[in-house]
Amino acid sequence: MQPYAVHPDRSRGRCFPEPAPQGRSEFQRDRDRIVHSTAFRRLEYKTQVFVNHEGDHFRTRLTHSLEVAQIARSIARNLGLNEDLVEAIALAHDLGHTPFGHAGQDALNECMRAHGGFEHNLQSLRVVDVLEQRYAAFDGLNLTFEAREGILKHCSAVKARGLGDVGERFLTHSRPSLEAQVANLADEIAYNNHDVDDGLRSGLLSLEQLAGVELFARHRAEVAARYPALDQRRVVHETVRRMMNTLVTDLIGHSRDSIAAAAPGSADEARRAPPLIAFSAAIAQEQQALKDFLRAHLYRHFQVNRMMSKARRIVEELFEAFSGDPRLLPPEFQERARRDGARAVADYIAGMTDRYAIREYRRLFSIDEA
Ligand code: MG
Repeated sequence: MQPYAVHPDRSRGRCFPEPAPQGRSEFQRDRDRIVHSTAFRRLEYKTQVFVNHEGDHFRTRLTHSLEVAQIARSIARNLGLNEDLVEAIALAHDLGHTPFGHAGQDALNECMRAHGGFEHNLQSLRVVDVLEQRYAAFDGLNLTFEAREGILKHCSAVKARGLGDVGERFLTHSRPSLEAQVANLADEIAYNNHDVDDGLRSGLLSLEQLAGVELFARHRAEVAARYPALDQRRVVHETVRRMMNTLVTDLIGHSRDSIAAAAPGSADEARRAPPLIAFSAAIAQEQQALKDFLRAHLYRHFQVNRMMSKARRIVEELFEAFSGDPRLLPPEFQERARRDGARAVADYIAGMTDRYAIREYRRLFSIDEA
């Protein structure tokens, strides 16, 4: 590891002090706790663009998180950063997501408007700080400051003031560790590429449409020239694989140059430097064009819109029913609702998987369901 990497022996520690782990580092312990959490297992049945029952091969939030961890570890290894910390952040980054991806999050945020709003990124921190109930001595997973700092990607100044040490950087406008910066960009690389793959697999996107996206078109042309007789599925895989490789390689190269120029002597110096983990300008532009394409053609495809509209209705109606009559909640949440009001309802809904939310909706509103 390089001097600008976060060193586990210099961690700012955990909210509840614990004896040092045996046979693993502090960040390996964080990673292990995340993998064993309930919220992590639920990621298998939470989706962003495609809902679970639409097909067995689409990404779920679980496979997405594993892909992010893989990409993030590769980048971290090349840059001499702490791979274990990067992995812990990557595996935890989506723990706070509601069912039905962004439609679910937007609907819940709307429902919570008068009660401080709802933001999935903040909720990921809430999951690891408070909501997981597994340990005798504390609520949450009691992760290190560095893992928590990495999970909290963005935050308003108002919210940051209530978050203690992990909120500080949003008030002082400094950056998180390089490990957190890597996990964040690994997330982008993962979803841009797998959404192209899933979009094509589902038939919502076509190869003709993608011909207008430089990053895709360039790599597809390479594949066609080298393997002219390849079947279409393999053309897609090979193209996406090459795109991903280009993005990862560019990110490593450009970040390595920025780090060399800034020459931070410690992880804290790296936090005070301008963002050091970044794509080159040319690749950043191509990646942005791909994002814009996906927004216009996949995330706003009418079939996706229909699913999202259903999702919004489910979340809104569940929220209305539970907050109007907390006696409909499972007993442990009734108790929390007495104490925390609407926030307990939001926690309950946010914790649901897609299929659990659909089932709860039926149980509440269909006369034929128990
Ligand atoms: Mg993500």
